[in-house]
Amino acid sequence: MDPNLSKTFCLNCGYCLDNLESSVCPECGGQFNANDSNTFATSAGTAHWLRWQQRVLLLAGVLVPLELLCALLSYETIGEVQMFLLLLVAVIGNLLACAILITRSPRISMACVVVVSLMIIPHQLALGIQYMMITHEVKQVIEYADQSILNDGKPPADLSAYRFRFPSISHHIRYTLNKKNGGYGLSWYIGNRNASHWYSPHEGWRYYPD
Ligand SMILES: [Zn+2]
Repeated sequence: MDPNLSKTFCLNCGYCLDNLESSVCPECGGQFNANDSNTFATSAGTAHWLRWQQRVLLLAGVLVPLELLCALLSYETIGEVQMFLLLLVAVIGNLLACAILITRSPRISMACVVVVSLMIIPHQLALGIQYMMITHEVKQVIEYADQSILNDGKPPADLSAYRFRFPSISHHIRYTLNKKNGGYGLSWYIGNRNASHWYSPHEGWRYYPD
């Protein structure tokens, strides 16, 4: 039978539901009611489109929360201004994907969701890992400097005798002597030099997210 001549198709999988005894799709097990047109599609094209729409929504359901989470966490790594830019990219990109989906181009809509994700998620995950490495390293440096104050009565003049756990990120951390704030000060950045973190024994942990 030519499927285009059929009148009812499963909303889940597009399977032809004509002349069935039961109200369960034999292909996917989805329920439908032959007397309720909201529970089935009336053309193979609509069923096909609905299938793709579901795939897009499923993918967006996973990627969009991740995009937003990554964008919000970027406050700590690249600062306030760039975080707002990322949120703007996420919101505009996904609204565009919605608009494209409504015009019945689900594959382009899906591509749009994926492109927005690729613009945000991999870079922010990498910065998140860097954030953890640098924070761990800073704690070690603080311990090293405080130990030096306990042993010698003064902080180390520099970090030349300190052994970095993560040498690849050592250039992100700057150590200075600072008599006013407890002997020494540390400043560091993750993905943006302008968004700087710092620490001194008297001030504690500080962050300037701009
Ligand atoms: Zn089905």
